[in-house]
Amino acid sequence: MPLSEFQLIARYFAGLSPPDAEGVVLGIGDDAAILRPPPGEDLLVSIDTLVAGVHFPPFLSPRAIGHRALAVNLSDLAAMGARPLWFTLALTLPEVDESWLGGFADGLGTLAARCGIALVGGDTTRGPLSITIQVHGAAAPGRALRRDGARVGDSLWVTGRPGLAALGLQRLQAGVADDDPACAAFLWPEPRLAFGRGLAGLASAAIDVSDGLLADAGHIAERSAVGIEIDATLLPLEGALGAIPLSEALALCLTGGDDYELCFTAPAAASAAIAGLAAAQGLSCRRIGTVVPGVGARCAGVETTGMGYQHFRESADG
Ligand code: ADP
Ligand code: MG
Repeated sequence: MPLSEFQLIARYFAGLSPPDAEGVVLGIGDDAAILRPPPGEDLLVSIDTLVAGVHFPPFLSPRAIGHRALAVNLSDLAAMGARPLWFTLALTLPEVDESWLGGFADGLGTLAARCGIALVGGDTTRGPLSITIQVHGAAAPGRALRRDGARVGDSLWVTGRPGLAALGLQRLQAGVADDDPACAAFLWPEPRLAFGRGLAGLASAAIDVSDGLLADAGHIAERSAVGIEIDATLLPLEGALGAIPLSEALALCLTGGDDYELCFTAPAAASAAIAGLAAAQGLSCRRIGTVVPGVGARCAGVETTGMGYQHFRESADG
């Protein structure tokens, strides 16, 4: 007998809803969840959909899909400097495959528990595999990090090793074992929640790197009405990225997506505090450029057309 929708939710998803979760008056099981936002704080809401074959490759394990679906959403809260509270899950499945569901719920639930976010509801439907998660978070009033606060003279920073995930994807497609550090960067993106919260009050603008460093820095530039100049000599091309030809490493670092690192701007006066925050969290964080008068983000000496991933970009041939 295949599981009913209710049995499926009870078996795989009810456990992602801890009984002591903050602000949950009523969770899974009714027509709507009842949530009580932390008094006096701003509520932040973000949603992302993963469509099979578009947002993740077919070889991804169910556990990695579950992790990724939540990680990309938590990364948006990280980029805003917010504290995660609740999420909802809209799941479209081609069939009820219990071994798939077990792996998916494990990947999702492990990350949810670690980041302290509670599942409070969702929807389950039949169709081509697609996962939509909406996250809710909180931030002190007016303290959330936005894309529109960069000022001329600020420094541009990035955490981690942007480009590593894209290198990992290439290696996974070529059949390299997934314990390779680059492969792990693609398979298990880590939302930089603690770092994002530490940046609130230090950074002037922030974004998470999902489409590629240059494209995402470009979003800060656009929203802040400034230009951004990335210095290629400052990019963190170390480890696996340091072991491949420089031109390839540069292209991956500037245009590879899927890293979910944080890219942000900050006044020079905040530099020591940012370095201290990174050191305290054991996260590498590098100053890679400057906010200048002008339009858009660029990296001198590197061709910048057609960089970053966009779903509805017009193709060159019309
Ligand atoms: P309704 O028909 O009123 O929309 P549903 O039958 O869709 O109710 O859902 C019943 C309950 O189960 C609701 O509380 C809903 O939030 C929850 N739910 C459904 N699907 C999921 C899911 N994938 N994850 C978590 N909760 C879910
Ligand atoms: Mg429903």
